[in-house]
Amino acid sequence: MQNFAERFQQVCSQIRHATGIAGRPRGCVQLLAVSKTKPASDIAILYRLGQRHFAENYLQEALQKQLQLAAFNITWHFIGPIQSNKTKSIACHFDWVHSVDRLKVAQRLSEQRPEHLPPLNICLQVNISEETSKSGVSLTELPQLVEAVNGLPRIRLRGVMAIPEPETSYPKQRQPYRRLYQAVQQLNRPELDSFSFGMSGDLKAAIMEGATMVRVGTALFGERHYI
Ligand SMILES: *Cc1c(COP(=O)(O)O)cnc(C)c1O
Repeated sequence: MQNFAERFQQVCSQIRHATGIAGRPRGCVQLLAVSKTKPASDIAILYRLGQRHFAENYLQEALQKQLQLAAFNITWHFIGPIQSNKTKSIACHFDWVHSVDRLKVAQRLSEQRPEHLPPLNICLQVNISEETSKSGVSLTELPQLVEAVNGLPRIRLRGVMAIPEPETSYPKQRQPYRRLYQAVQQLNRPELDSFSFGMSGDLKAAIMEGATMVRVGTALFGERHYI
């Protein structure tokens, strides 16, 4: 518990500090707590410390925790790879989806978003390091995908998400985010106001380059132990 409070304060102050150095308004960067592999009890601790936005990668795991935490007023973000046959459940149980990388998935999410819920907020995942193995639309294909997704009735296209190749050098960490930020500015669509950039290891670089949401796991919850 002590550890959680300390780590939470540290991450919040890192975000405040970087936001200040970037010359951006206080509070413009939202912290998403990435709780994959961590138990609902860890989420509850962070919630009591004031955290409200949580992000999960694996659908079954997320649904189970959502059931356990049904009494909490959590905003849930889905950030993992999406198989088409999982879209219905994602459309029903999340407020944001950051990992949409093809039209088919966007269409299904729109069709399957329940009427009683507001339109689903989505970000398009962009493969900014252009590796063949990673998911995400390429920078060249981004404008067409934005165009196609934008007309879908039950989703609200909010921006982009990127997971660049890990880099330890700060200038190198900034480059891919800068490229993507500029590419989005060139689309000239003010509704694309969300930049899901940055994780535990590159928070500052991401915030310097326009991140509005940072996705932080390890720095909040400690190391993950996969079984
Ligand atoms: C796991 C994960 C994170 C968090 O990574 P940390 O390095 O633990 O902060 C962020 N974004 C995505 C898409 C992830 O899968």
